[in-house]
Formats: sequence, C-alpha cells, structure tokens
Amino acid sequence: MNSKQIFKLIVVGNSGVGKSCIILRYLDDEFNLGYEATIGVEFGSVPIELMGKSVVLQIWDTAGQETYRSITKPYFRRAVGALIVYDITDRNSFNSVMDWLEDVQLNASPNTFITIVGNKRDLESKRQVSYEEGVKFAKENGFLFFETSAQSSYNIEKIFEETANKIYQQIQ
Ligand code: GDP
Ligand code: MG
Repeated sequence: MNSKQIFKLIVVGNSGVGKSCIILRYLDDEFNLGYEATIGVEFGSVPIELMGKSVVLQIWDTAGQETYRSITKPYFRRAVGALIVYDITDRNSFNSVMDWLEDVQLNASPNTFITIVGNKRDLESKRQVSYEEGVKFAKENGFLFFETSAQSSYNIEKIFEETANKIYQQIQ
C-alpha cells in the first residue's frame, strides 16, 4: 500500500452553521467571528499519523454554493468522508441534515463515511436541538456524532481524526 494516502473529506451543511470556522480552527487554530464564507479556501491539506501510517487529509470547504444547494459534482467526487454540520441553535439546519445526506450519498458515494457534527455548542442558552436528538439520528444511521465549538475548539480535532481513523480501518 502507498504510504502517503490522500483522504478527501468534504464539509457540508446549511450556510452559517460554521463549516468554514471549523476548518479554519482545525487547519490554523484560529477563530474569526467575521469570517467571510464566500472567500474561504477551497481546500487545505494536513498530514496526520494514523496507527503509524502517514495520511494526508485533504479538506474541502464550500464557498457559498451551499446557500442554494448548488454545490457541483466535482466537490463531491471521490470524497471518502463527509462531515455534515448543523448548528445546535438552529433547528432548521438540523432538519436539513437529511437533504445533505442525500446529496452526499448520491454525488459522492453511498460508501462515503459520514460524521454528523452539531456545532456552536458554546451557545448553550440558545440551543434548539438537544444532544440526544443528534445522537439518536446518528445512531439510527450508523454515523459518528459529535457536538463541537469552533469558537472554543471543543472536539474540533476529534471530528477530523476520528473520521479519518474510521475510514482507515474500513479500507484495511
Ligand atoms: P459557514 O457558512 O457554514 O461556513 O459558516 P461560517 O464558518 O462562516 O460561520 C458562520 C457564523 O457562525 C460566523 O459568524 C461565525 O463566527 C459563527 N460561528 C461559527 N462557529 C461557531 C461556534 O462554534 N460558536 C459560535 N458562537 N459561533 C460560531
Ligand atoms: Mg463557509
């Protein structure tokens, strides 16, 4: 097996849920409240170690196309993993997870490894979606699930690393 495998991970979900902030936090350990979604990076790469093997995570962000669910096929192509993100303070973004799931399974592959991410956990007083609801949805579908905060960094490394780990185990 090639020792430098590339894992393409895509990050989808409604506009405003924090996708770009999550990626920025993971790649650069930065958080910017006024981060401009439309001029976000198309993708960033980061080398990680998985059980002694060197793997490159290639992380793809959207640049506003998600607002109209007009993300084109090349974005999805050959993605081995997808983070589907909602905002715990926005019920509508949770309801949209099913639509994003459909898009991923149709345009990437039915085998694309899915992780569900409930972001903005720091905004507890504005919460509209309970932790249990997130867990239940993910469990029923056999997906990984985490709540995160791009603001505080909570679970940000975990969503990328656990997803990569699962993919790695699956392809052995
Ligand atoms: P995107 O459209 O999904 O890429 O969302 P952005 O990353 O552009 O974030 C949208 C807004 O949510 C911005 O104002 C961010 O500062 C804010 N945001 C993102 N993540 C968090 C978080 O974890 N906590 C809080 N409080 N705000 C967040
Ligand atoms: Mg964005």
